[in-house]
Amino acid sequence: MTPRRAAKIIATLGPASSTPDRIRALHAAGADLFRLNFSHGERAEHRARYEAVRRLEREIGRPIGILVDLQGPKIRVGKFAGGKVTLGEGKPLRLDLDPAPGDAARAPLPHPEVFQVLSPGQMVLLDDGRLRLRVESVSADRAETVVVTGGVLGERKGVNLPGAILPLSALTEKDLRDLDFALSLGADWIALSFVQRPDDVAELRKIVGNRAAIMSKIEKPQALARLDQIVDLSDAVMVARGDLGVELPPEDVPTLQKRIVRTGRRAGKPVVVATQMLDSMVRDPAPTRAEASDVANAVYDGADAVMLSAETASGAYPAEAVAMMARIIGRVEHDPAYRVIMDANHPPPQATAADAITLAAREVATTIAAACIVTYTSSGSTALRASRERPAVPILCLTGRTQTARRMTLAWGVHCFFSHDVSTIDEMVAYAQESAKSNGIAKSGERIVITAGMPFGTPGATNMLRVAWVE
Ligand code: PGA
Ligand code: MN
Repeated sequence: MTPRRAAKIIATLGPASSTPDRIRALHAAGADLFRLNFSHGERAEHRARYEAVRRLEREIGRPIGILVDLQGPKIRVGKFAGGKVTLGEGKPLRLDLDPAPGDAARAPLPHPEVFQVLSPGQMVLLDDGRLRLRVESVSADRAETVVVTGGVLGERKGVNLPGAILPLSALTEKDLRDLDFALSLGADWIALSFVQRPDDVAELRKIVGNRAAIMSKIEKPQALARLDQIVDLSDAVMVARGDLGVELPPEDVPTLQKRIVRTGRRAGKPVVVATQMLDSMVRDPAPTRAEASDVANAVYDGADAVMLSAETASGAYPAEAVAMMARIIGRVEHDPAYRVIMDANHPPPQATAADAITLAAREVATTIAAACIVTYTSSGSTALRASRERPAVPILCLTGRTQTARRMTLAWGVHCFFSHDVSTIDEMVAYAQESAKSNGIAKSGERIVITAGMPFGTPGATNMLRVAWVE
């Protein structure tokens, strides 16, 4: 096996990718992690997909990450008589709490909190911003609006209120039930949607503890105001461009993407760039040139992972989309300019022994042209600090903990393997040599650079660097 790409691919599973064969095909095409999107689908379907991924993992003997994405407080309109309505520009539309099916003059909006924060002049965006309403007047249970941009509105479509801070936790009742289910399955990562404040992340952490790692989805303007704190409290972040580009003008998204990636990289937290990356491949066998550039640019920005949503969940070309993404990443990583950019944007180390050792490992590996850096880690923190360095050689991550191996599938440049525990340095060095060789990352006669923390199993205690020959 030769090391794969440094930047990782997340593929969302859905109706187009549910059978074990299709999941295997997505993995073979390059998917490193799979996302179960709890905004859609039944529990039994998610469970079946989860189990299919775990069976595949046993079959190949390599960890595969599973990300459960909680829906969060997504506001949706209710139902319409006939399933949809056509809203005419300039026409009035009433939004209210009445659950009766709506029509062209009124739409049910079963979210009392919304009426508390609406005010005259506020824009209400429907169906990812395709339709727009302006609020004229509001009371406790209804709002009178005027259609600014009309069109066909289907039932249960999403509603965005740009700029409004809703008195809602990022965890709804449904999310709490879904979270329980996700943790009982054994999800590696939990993604929290519509994070508005650091407290939202803290609330999830209190429930999850160490059972899963937490990814905060940045898709609300309010989250940007306290991005540093949100990143600090999270294990990873996602640039959730779908909702972000509705809550804010689309022209703001590119610079925000770069800012979020930079913030995550500085903190050493994996960053995912998501949504519409190869959107036309939902229907077509090839992406637009602009989409190919978008994937490439996310990788040039230094993202840890890029994500596919509808492309793999419900599209006509799921495996082709993953393969295309893998090829684009491969091209970027072979571009000498990419290395120059990674080095130029290298965040300074923190004043810790762990970062000093990790930085030294990167230098040593480059100087002696080592085959790889090997990190021996229990919590994954050593591997993440090594990933933060964006070294020119692969990072081979050895861990005795299955959960850590699965989580680390998200981290840039980290190649994790299921390992056994070691108790002495000599044992660890021997194990690193053997592992680097058997996994095809180093050949006989090459050198490897090993970092670890003594005593073993102490998170963040990286304090040892060794150079060893592979026999
Ligand atoms: P979603 O999140 O697909 O759950 O909405 C991603 C995004 O908003 O970009
Ligand atoms: Mn979203």
